[in-house]
Amino acid sequence: MKKIDLRSDTVTLPTQDMINAISHADLGDDVFNEDPTINHLEELAAKTFDKDEALFVPSGTMANLVAILSHCQRGDEVILGDQSHTFLYEAGGISAFGGIHSRQLLNQQDGTIEIEDIKNAIRKDDVHFPPTRLICLENTHNRCLGMPLSVDYTNSVAKIAKNNSLGLHVDGARIFNAAVASSVSVSDLTEKVDSVSFCLSKGLSAPAGSLLCGNRDFISKARRNRKALGGGMRQAGILAAAGIVALENMTDRIIEDHNNARALAEGISNIEGIIINPDVIKTNIIYFSLDHSKINSELLLGKMLEKNIHFFELGPSWFRLVTHAGISEDDINFVIGEFDRILS
Ligand SMILES: *Cc1c(COP(=O)(O)O)cnc(C)c1O
Repeated sequence: MKKIDLRSDTVTLPTQDMINAISHADLGDDVFNEDPTINHLEELAAKTFDKDEALFVPSGTMANLVAILSHCQRGDEVILGDQSHTFLYEAGGISAFGGIHSRQLLNQQDGTIEIEDIKNAIRKDDVHFPPTRLICLENTHNRCLGMPLSVDYTNSVAKIAKNNSLGLHVDGARIFNAAVASSVSVSDLTEKVDSVSFCLSKGLSAPAGSLLCGNRDFISKARRNRKALGGGMRQAGILAAAGIVALENMTDRIIEDHNNARALAEGISNIEGIIINPDVIKTNIIYFSLDHSKINSELLLGKMLEKNIHFFELGPSWFRLVTHAGISEDDINFVIGEFDRILS
């Protein structure tokens, strides 16, 4: 029985093109800036996002940590969403390693933070307060229904940042999903932001790696911070080779994941006990709740596992399903059928 793994798009495996690229990659020592494949990937990323430079890092978590360390000093404050990945799921790294204070503002259902809330959170110059230095957004927003943030919204936050001499960083782990969902380019989405990180290892199917893009000064600081965190890798071109294939060949197919997610949401929306609004599904992440008279969470997960269907319960009776390159339309139909069989 095929394993249908809907836990995350991080479970994607490298494509045959990636394996081929890895085995033929030109390599060198990247800490000396001498790995031609890394250099190529960084140039490609910078060009794709229309920024001066880019930096390859092992993970999205390190990309955000390096970014925030490069924008802020110890004791500075960063404004971010209370549902943001950086606040919830990055082991508190910005505080633990950077001494950076976080100001968590309410994330709306669509992943935005109210503009007024941001304005009101910016500190006055007063010895009592940590100086506000940076605003972080997340696009698409993982916890907020995989929602894409719009160009307009991002630009309006960028304007506030600029008017208050703050930096703006976008955690764009899934920014290609946002671009596809909104029919814009990633450079449109990040034109006015100071830095953006994105993952190669999620919807783009590369085995590992993320990039951080920004201006020349910022990336040179980031390069030093990456080294300090132990993220300077040597012949990491074997990873970058897959990353180049990811950027060149894997962004257009994301639309399939969105169509599959939408079909899955619609397919399960009429099944007894499942609470979901398929109209809010814009990208590859679905959340649903379970309220069934006979089947509880444990039973549902157990019965799905018998069919080799894997997903998580994120909160009490609250579940997430993520589509990706390893999930086909047939898989979606099979999964809908199993939900129906178990719950009806
Ligand atoms: C996955 C993710 C990250 C972190 O990426 P890792 O490569 O898993 O460290 C950061 N931000 C968001 C929104 C994510 O979904």
